[in-house]
Amino acid sequence: MEPNPSSAYDRRTRMRSTIALVLCALLAACKSASPAQPERGKPGTEFGDLFTGRTLRVDCQHVGNAETEHFALTGLRLEGPWPGSRTQLVDTLELGKYRFEVVEPSTQRVLFARGFCSIFGEWETTGEAKRQWGSFEESQRFPEPRAPVELVWRERLDDGSWVERHRAPIDPAGRFVDRAPLDTDAEVIGLIEHGHPSTKVDLLIVADAYPFTARAKFIADARRLVDALFDTQPFRRKRADFNVRLLYRPAAEAGLSNPRKDVWRSSRYGLSFNSFDVDRYVLALRDRALREDCAQAPYDALILLCNERKYGGGGIYNLWATVTADSEAAPYLFVHEFGHSFAGLADEYYSSAIAYEELTPPGSEPWEPNVTALLDPAQLKWRDLVAEGTPLPTPWDQAAYDAADLEYQARRKALLDAQAGEEQNEALMREVKQSSGAFLRAQPYYGKTGAFEGGAYMAKGLYRPSVDCIMFTRNPTWFCKVCERAVTQTIERFAK
Ligand SMILES: [Zn+2]
Repeated sequence: MEPNPSSAYDRRTRMRSTIALVLCALLAACKSASPAQPERGKPGTEFGDLFTGRTLRVDCQHVGNAETEHFALTGLRLEGPWPGSRTQLVDTLELGKYRFEVVEPSTQRVLFARGFCSIFGEWETTGEAKRQWGSFEESQRFPEPRAPVELVWRERLDDGSWVERHRAPIDPAGRFVDRAPLDTDAEVIGLIEHGHPSTKVDLLIVADAYPFTARAKFIADARRLVDALFDTQPFRRKRADFNVRLLYRPAAEAGLSNPRKDVWRSSRYGLSFNSFDVDRYVLALRDRALREDCAQAPYDALILLCNERKYGGGGIYNLWATVTADSEAAPYLFVHEFGHSFAGLADEYYSSAIAYEELTPPGSEPWEPNVTALLDPAQLKWRDLVAEGTPLPTPWDQAAYDAADLEYQARRKALLDAQAGEEQNEALMREVKQSSGAFLRAQPYYGKTGAFEGGAYMAKGLYRPSVDCIMFTRNPTWFCKVCERAVTQTIERFAK
């Protein structure tokens, strides 16, 4: 998801056919000596019974168009020690557009599962995907199984049910697992250490576009933004549940490619502005290079920090967040984008309503924890946080807000068209922050939890939990109660 404000995704409602698969046989075909089996006579539920303690990564290309998609496997890679939880292996949060599972073949028992979103999952909703095919690098990491398993990729349908998109049998002991030594040429710098990786959220902040001369700046930028993160609840309360490390590999030069200004930079991880032709959207397209470097440190979550002045970033659930470090709004970007990538939070804003097509089909409930279609107010997923007597939907002066926002969007577009400098953009952002902040604070249900119409790129038909939130505007430095709870639940997945 893009930094506020974002641009158009046109989304289609469809049910895709189950896809035949191409390359899985390659990985399943070879079998060498049998790995150790789970202990006999026991149900085999202990981590050590099922897994070796190392990390296995499966690389693939996620390919297709608006109507069809495939997961084409490209390789298996043995990484270092498994940094995730050894007790919470099957994700129960039920977030994400996709779900990845490691399944025991004989019983079909799910040994490991996690929800996720992907670049392809966003791209397929763009107009480009209606005209041509696209292909994006993607990977999944999981504890190395002791015995052969099946890897399963599922996609969530509009009605919330899951459909299997790909299944690949793999033998972890087979010849197709790349066991080459991991690189050691990136520098891992400890920032916050609170305990063993298996009981903590291991956040890795990866340098992008910091040359040799900018190593100290990278560390200072990361410290500043990590401080902003831990000034925000629930991260402040849960600080002891985190380890934070930095990964530094010098870049050739500073700055990001900016195709709209004909600025081009080499980027090891394929970062650039104007992803999906959205000026401020920054995606990392070279997943393989990124994963190989990151394997030098334990990590559960990634933030790619860009040595760049211009406002921009992105965040995709269980993938990574990208943030430009020198924007005036960098602290907001850091927290907001991490809200997407870490906790699966939706954008609560819906600006440029005229540019958006349907994101959530009428009658369906979005999976994100902080937006709802409010199909049945009695079943509102954050009902327990709504105080007695709060009307649902909850009134706010949306018409007045939208009128002011339309004017802002027009001024912003004019600056973009004129290729204005970052100072002018930031001056406009400051002005809007002041006026919209005052407007929202004056709303009768400000600070209360309810269901306020307008959210997730839809002015009508979708509702957000609070008048304001860091997932809605750049005004507050806090999450609303619903977002805060979702972040807490995610932290506890790693650190309980
Ligand atoms: Zn929120």
